[in-house]
Amino acid sequence: MYLTKTITDLQQHLQVAVKKGANIGFVPTMGALHQGHISLIKRALSENEYVVCSIFVNPTQFNQATDLETYPKTPAADVMLLAASGNHVLFHPDVSDIYPNGMQVKPRNLGPVSTIFEGAFRPGHFDGVAEVVSRLFNAVKPTKAYFGLKDYQQCMIIKALVELENIPISLVFCPTQRENDGLAMSSRNRRLSAEQRKTAAIIPQTLAFIRANYSYYKKDELLLAGREMLLGQLQTEYLDIVHAHTLQPLDSASDPAVALFAGRCGEVRLIDNMLLTE
Ligand code: AMP
Repeated sequence: MYLTKTITDLQQHLQVAVKKGANIGFVPTMGALHQGHISLIKRALSENEYVVCSIFVNPTQFNQATDLETYPKTPAADVMLLAASGNHVLFHPDVSDIYPNGMQVKPRNLGPVSTIFEGAFRPGHFDGVAEVVSRLFNAVKPTKAYFGLKDYQQCMIIKALVELENIPISLVFCPTQRENDGLAMSSRNRRLSAEQRKTAAIIPQTLAFIRANYSYYKKDELLLAGREMLLGQLQTEYLDIVHAHTLQPLDSASDPAVALFAGRCGEVRLIDNMLLTE
């Protein structure tokens, strides 16, 4: 696996692959890698001749300084996992490589999906995500880019960004990888105490309960029961059932639907979601 820190070196290295006409798959991450990330790498390897993974903890998407400071970092383990996965290039730039002129974030109109749920609870978060993804896309210039449906709303934001800026990259959204008890894999899970880790399993249990009962009960009844399940276990920020394509309220029972959750387990903020219809 080729390791590189600068955009110039990365592009020089990729030139050979580009000249050969190789498709380049790209998996952007913030490190502290787990099997969720590796599932994206594997998918990218199955669809491209060359795969680039980036590890960059992007300061502009953190709306709370403490969240940025406490974000887990496991650089040595990341390199081992990536190398074992068959990934070709690890791009791990410094902040000054990605933001050479200061941490400017271009204002973008990413549509109504950007202002609700994560957009409302983490002001500025999606502007930072769109900014860094746009800069990383420019640096890597991939054929296809891979994102996890674990960050469901983020997938929609990236889609909006690609449409807004006419970026010639195909997006591939990959299923959420879960631990044995159903908890969505996340770098943040490392920050949970053993007790909190056990408690956090109530998140997928609640979402699975909603999914299992979706065709039999009214939305409000399910949400009430779901919030009840979470009560006293976690501090729920939102639990909602919305249109799977727009994240707006449902118009009819036949609309594609998704259940979205965000909440805190102690200090650790966790998000998850489940599609309720095929
Ligand atoms: P992050 O390092 O958290 O920014 O995540 C990098 C990419 O991995 C994003 O596209 C995430 O949606 C994806 N990802 C994170 N956790 C999972 C998971 N449990 N299953 C699948 N993809 C994931």
